[in-house]
Amino acid sequence: MKAGKLRAPADRHVVLVTGGARGIGLGIVRRFLADGYQVAFVAMRAEHVERALDLLGRSEDRLYAESIDVTREDNVRNFVDRVRARWGEIAILVNNAGISPKRADQDAHWLSQTSLDEWARVIDVNLNAPFILSRLLAPAMIAKGYGRIINIGSLAGRAMPMIAGPHYAASKAGLVGLTRAAARDLAPYGITVNCIAPGRVLSDLTGPSEAMVNRSALSRIPVGRFGTADEVAHVAAFLASPMAGFITGATIDITGGEFAA
Ligand code: NDP
Repeated sequence: MKAGKLRAPADRHVVLVTGGARGIGLGIVRRFLADGYQVAFVAMRAEHVERALDLLGRSEDRLYAESIDVTREDNVRNFVDRVRARWGEIAILVNNAGISPKRADQDAHWLSQTSLDEWARVIDVNLNAPFILSRLLAPAMIAKGYGRIINIGSLAGRAMPMIAGPHYAASKAGLVGLTRAAARDLAPYGITVNCIAPGRVLSDLTGPSEAMVNRSALSRIPVGRFGTADEVAHVAAFLASPMAGFITGATIDITGGEFAA
């Protein structure tokens, strides 16, 4: 392989991104399209998928998307079957879809405010769905002898969470463990599994936080600004490339210098 080659060979071109309709996921979809990949993405709400397709410019041979709930294994399996029927095997999986419930009462502590249902839903979306998808796609990657799995974690799973709840922090810390375990299992087959842990990136997930919350978050970031979806997408593109074949089981912090473990 020539040094500097970011683009994957033609048979390694199909990417699946979860939560690709907005924020960081949309940035990742855009970046992979710009790099010449065929990109399939899912999001929860049909209108968000349609809006993203309008933004990206509908291109049937390069872009395919549906609204499904990534926690529903049957929906995920059917979606993957449709992508495979269209373009062949998926070489690159980006587990990006995530939720972070906001606190109703800023004065009360999170633990007492978190119902078991809310806890289970966050673990389902942020941790179980990446497991479902990784388990589903790994056999074909193994058969091909090539694959890339990229999990979008969070600084909240790497250090004491300053804003997010216990469910969110636990799900993202769990993703670091899943990344390592899957990386160990899949390393002999040419498949790398890595995690990207962003600090605060302005998106629909963080935007609705009170101005005071975002101000205090900003004061903790040494570079003095929030991150961008594009900055996360660049790292995902690098990890997805053949050049990154010796990086596996890693968690890459993109935090503007904010402390991570
Ligand atoms: P957004 O809220 O802007 O977007 C989340 C995306 O995930 C949406 O497209 C949403 O679909 C989709 N999604 C959520 N639940 C499901 C589900 N059950 N099934 C399918 N799709 C789903 O989030 P961000 O872009 O900010 O965050 C992306 C990832 O980055 C998350 O994993 C988040 O935890 C992580 N992260 C974000 C940080 C930040 O500061 N923004 C910091 C650290 C980590 P729909 O559009 O239809 O609602």
